[in-house]
Amino acid sequence: MKAIIHGTIVMPDGERRGKALLYTDRIIGLAEEAEALERADDIFDAEGRYVVPGLVDVHIHGYGGADVSDDDPDGVRRMAQCLLQNGVTSFLPTTLTVAWNRLAGICGHMRALRTESTRPDFPGAEILGIHLEGPFINPDYKGAQNPAYILAPDAERVLPFADIIRVLTLAPEMPGAGNFIETIRKKTTIALSMGHTGATFDQAMAAADRGVTRVTHLFNAMTQMVHRQPGVVGAALSSDLYTELIADTFHVSAGLFPLLVKAKGRRLVLITDALRAAGMPDGEYENGGQAFVLKGVECRLRDGTIAGSVLRLNQAVKNLRDYGGITLAEAIRAASLNAAASAGLAQSKGSLEAGKDADIVLMDADCQVWQTIVRGVSKYQRIR
Ligand SMILES: [Zn+2]
Repeated sequence: MKAIIHGTIVMPDGERRGKALLYTDRIIGLAEEAEALERADDIFDAEGRYVVPGLVDVHIHGYGGADVSDDDPDGVRRMAQCLLQNGVTSFLPTTLTVAWNRLAGICGHMRALRTESTRPDFPGAEILGIHLEGPFINPDYKGAQNPAYILAPDAERVLPFADIIRVLTLAPEMPGAGNFIETIRKKTTIALSMGHTGATFDQAMAAADRGVTRVTHLFNAMTQMVHRQPGVVGAALSSDLYTELIADTFHVSAGLFPLLVKAKGRRLVLITDALRAAGMPDGEYENGGQAFVLKGVECRLRDGTIAGSVLRLNQAVKNLRDYGGITLAEAIRAASLNAAASAGLAQSKGSLEAGKDADIVLMDADCQVWQTIVRGVSKYQRIR
């Protein structure tokens, strides 16, 4: 058994000081520090830093030059390794709207990688399944998705991969989407998310009634909120739908963060939507067969369309805390427990509660990551 002492432990309902966190490959619980010193075989000193649950990124396409949609398992392994330094202990590799054959291939490869990533000697964050973003989206709200590969909703394509797909983003107003939602709801545990959508407020609320439980990157690639036409944004803000936010202050103004925190509370989910250019220098890159340019924090297609981000999830936590007027514990929750719950994964991920996987991060007050522990194994340590 291992123990972390001298830290501020971040639990779902707030911070604990003067306690130790006990764990093996799972969280055992909190104890008095004196008791921990007696019982534990390995003791880590947090040196006053925060001890937080590992961050869970449920919407990320790429990092460090790799992109999930390349269907290159080595690229995803590299991503998994890079993400440790941002405090991410598990993630949903997220596909772009590319050819269905390729999506099917990626699903197959991710099954093997998911198993591999749970091993103690896997040098990266754990892969929890796939977020399939498209191809069942609205071409009028494609954003930076490639319109050549958009398909009509078809549950028969998805069902063979129901074990590996955890989240699926679709436009609920497209012809056939009603039957699609009903079938997926009845036969699978996939979390359905509305995004890249031109749904009206009424269509969005009807989709929620039918079993869509999430909204993909709020404000981006959807109908906006006007007082007589509240759109998907209005539906997200006035319902209990889990709602993704790219908190890089570029995709959504930081001026709205306090409102989003108040409106969504524990249904607010921080994501990165990161592309392969994340963790890389400025320059030109490729995204699902389309070129884009990274300059600073902005990724744009050649026509100026905003693409995904180069955001790091620990930076998103810092931004939400600093601009949203909330505590670190609340901001951490949006990138851990809320995120895991939005994908149906909260039984084993997202918090430091007893019985869950021991995914633990040591972080300072600036949200810099000092150590990342996955299933009880230390996999990243910041060099002093
Ligand atoms: Zn995306």
